Amino acid sequence: MKPIKIAIDGPAGAGKSTIAKLIADKLDIIYLDTGAMYRAIALKCLENDIDFEDKKSISKLLDNTDLEVAFNHSRQNIILDGVDVSDKIRTTEISNAASAIAALPEVREKLVDMQREIGQERSIVMDGRDIGTYVLPDADVKIFLTASLEERARRRWLEYRNRGEEIDLRQAMKEIEKRDICDSTRDFAPLKKAHDAIVVDTTDKSIAQVVDIIESIIRDRLSVV
Ligand code: C5P
Repeated sequence: MKPIKIAIDGPAGAGKSTIAKLIADKLDIIYLDTGAMYRAIALKCLENDIDFEDKKSISKLLDNTDLEVAFNHSRQNIILDGVDVSDKIRTTEISNAASAIAALPEVREKLVDMQREIGQERSIVMDGRDIGTYVLPDADVKIFLTASLEERARRRWLEYRNRGEEIDLRQAMKEIEKRDICDSTRDFAPLKKAHDAIVVDTTDKSIAQVVDIIESIIRDRLSVV
């Protein structure tokens, strides 16, 4: 059977990772959180005190970085130079740094090559910002997941609180808004709905409702769920 490719894009806090993981579980296929890859590179830049404007040093760092994505059922672990950094990359500092370095074409080229290679010849659900427009333009199903800024900020705030990181709700909103602007205005592969993507607004919906909607979209397109 031909591998199935599902692209889920959208702004921060729209629920992409949660939904993508559940869809991948239902279909029993792998799930790739591409944001985690940008986060890992951002972590290494921060740990090495590299300025995000310093393209030369970033290129050198990329050449000397071993980034590996390990799949364990639908769970993904990010291994940076032999160390599992899956939890370490989930801070606000790394979110903002990832958005800054993700604007650099040299970073995107390397990570997009890896993403396409991972998605080659196997069924996959990939989530990110440019999956439907750039990484997998021929994906079988493209979803653009969104939600109001207030709701996305509230989710991020809850997520951080649950992990013991105290942030102010207004600050969460400002950071998400800043990241939206940075991600959607960059020149290279910005956050954008693909012309053939279906928009799903998750603002007033439960996770189960969103999964149902996406399942029925996949069923309509592919008759697999
Ligand atoms: O999805 P997540 O919030 O983990 O992504 C972190 C950052 O990585 C985003 O704000 C975005 O700048 C960048 N990113 C990207 N393209 C992707 C996935 C993430 O530019 N496909």
